[in-house]
Amino acid sequence: MYLSVAYYPEHWPRTEWGKDIGLMADAGINLVRVGEFAWSLIEKESGRFDFSWLDEIIGLLDKYGMKIILCTPTASPPPWLVEEYPDILLVHANRSRRLLGSRRHYCYNNQNFHEHTVNVVREMGKRFYNCPTVFAWHIDNEFANEGTGKCYCQVCREKFHNWLKARYGDLDELNRKWGTVFWSQVYTKWTQIELPVNAFDGTVELQPAFRNNPSHLLAFQRFASDSYIGYLRLQIDALHGERVSAPVTTNFGEFSANEIDYYDMAKNLDIVSNDCYPDPTISDYTRQAFVYDHSRGIKGERFWLMETTTGSMGICWARHNGPKPLPGSLRVLTYQAFARGAELINYFLWRTCRFGVEQHEMGILDHDGIPRRRYEEIKKIGLEWNKLRKELSIVPQKNEVAVLFSYEHLWSSRISPISPKFTYLGHLSQYHRILQEMHVGVDVIPYDRDISAYKVILAPFCCMVNDEIAAHLTEYVKGGGTLIVTIETGMKDFEGVITDETLPGKLKALMGVEVEHFEGLPNNENLTVCLNAGNKKIRSAPLIWRDLLNSIAAEPVAVYENGYSKGQPAITRNIYGKGYAYYFGTVCDDKFTREFIKCVVKEKGIKPLITEEREGLETVRRGKYLFILNHSQRNKTISLGRTYEDKLTHKKLKGKVKLETKGVMILEPT
Ligand SMILES: [Zn+2]
Repeated sequence: MYLSVAYYPEHWPRTEWGKDIGLMADAGINLVRVGEFAWSLIEKESGRFDFSWLDEIIGLLDKYGMKIILCTPTASPPPWLVEEYPDILLVHANRSRRLLGSRRHYCYNNQNFHEHTVNVVREMGKRFYNCPTVFAWHIDNEFANEGTGKCYCQVCREKFHNWLKARYGDLDELNRKWGTVFWSQVYTKWTQIELPVNAFDGTVELQPAFRNNPSHLLAFQRFASDSYIGYLRLQIDALHGERVSAPVTTNFGEFSANEIDYYDMAKNLDIVSNDCYPDPTISDYTRQAFVYDHSRGIKGERFWLMETTTGSMGICWARHNGPKPLPGSLRVLTYQAFARGAELINYFLWRTCRFGVEQHEMGILDHDGIPRRRYEEIKKIGLEWNKLRKELSIVPQKNEVAVLFSYEHLWSSRISPISPKFTYLGHLSQYHRILQEMHVGVDVIPYDRDISAYKVILAPFCCMVNDEIAAHLTEYVKGGGTLIVTIETGMKDFEGVITDETLPGKLKALMGVEVEHFEGLPNNENLTVCLNAGNKKIRSAPLIWRDLLNSIAAEPVAVYENGYSKGQPAITRNIYGKGYAYYFGTVCDDKFTREFIKCVVKEKGIKPLITEEREGLETVRRGKYLFILNHSQRNKTISLGRTYEDKLTHKKLKGKVKLETKGVMILEPT
């Protein structure tokens, strides 16, 4: 368990450093992340390096027994480098250069940038490879965020062609797989292939909308992701070449860009780090719960929360300046991340910046460096962690339910949207949120993970299916698992081309249904779906989309009540081998979906952690400990089914217990 802060000593006079680090140590902070935007200080001009200020900081940290997460500074190439090599600047989809003045203004494929990256990273490696104060290395910062997911420069164009040659071998294969016969796009030379602009890509300013071949877009997305991973690899190899042996990581950018396949990227990292900025003024904890469950699922183990909130993020990131966090919010949010698998919490940031765009982003300290309520709250956590560190250093729990996540499915949903109202993440998180509110733990994992031990697997919007996925899911159900799939299942191959089989394609036998047709439902069309849940009937309008199902072997679970599809199933269940395969052929409201999920969970004998489903009340199991967190602004009463000891108060608890607003319990069964 590590408490850490992002610190920018370069923002403050040297005379302040000792006081800052002393305050950190008093608060139980044992790690400091430094250097991620400091290239122009580390290398003042090409080849002239200065590490004296880092030496000084490391010396001060040593005095207090603290350690450093040392960052490579490549997210902000310095002015001298841009002046010397203007071609390193990233080119946006509208072919404008991203100019110096902010950050992330580089092309990840540019050779000049690669050379200078290797120079600075090697020098840092040489200088600090055997420094015992360096706890870990941190590469760059939030790759691909802030509209930098794809570069459209000439270098990238050439490298894209090479990437395509390696993937497809010859042009005939590419033409066939992409269906370039559509709109007369059959290529006869690699150099004819442009860098495509996705009219639906919300991450950058775009040219007037036009439509590109979705297979072409998907290939370019994969190429951009691979390119970023290559750039990460370049830095890791440079560090390893200088005998660096401490763990290496980079901070993922949560779900803000989704331009990189983090499952692929994480294969290069010693540990997954993700950033997440919950809003400390609201009760809804489910958004960040999804981020943390995904972070833990990337490698299936503990992760580091490399940036998290210490207050309002300010107008430059949140588009509004929020109020100061309510008392207890930072503490409850810290325990939430820990309960869901974080081993390290790095607060962003130590002290509110006096200059630069983050002037309204609240640090633990304000601009004047005087410790106030936010500091005292972090200090309380530090004191608690010092006492609990040994006991709570446990591996995260595996849950009985998992949601399968795929960046390729996400990209496909973005490239060929089924509705402006639909997002892949929104669809997955509806199921995740409902399970959290029911107090059923969920893992979020990739499709290639071993799923045999899970009781229920959800594979929402599984729009691209190959033989491996079909076999994986079929074996799982055959062996006794319960699978839930939803709309668009099995529709495409991994080039983004629709199958010529009757849907759900490769999963037809498993699901025991045929999709008669699929259609958008922009206005709900006055339809209702009815679910028989025990002795009650639950109804919802089918929202956004439906795959209209005809049963071959499956039984109906919910049916349409009106229109020409009256009596046809909206949800089916197929018995396959020892398991069940559910097809949820539309999107329904939360109440309906919750009742459906409850039926499935009950059928599998999965018990919720507690029974009270109340706003802002979160439960998580980590190891033998049950965490109960009250994010709401009201005290809550909870019924405990057995006797526990609260590790924070050492009180024995049983029956009905009160948890105050923003309160935390860590319960050990006695
Ligand atoms: Zn480029």
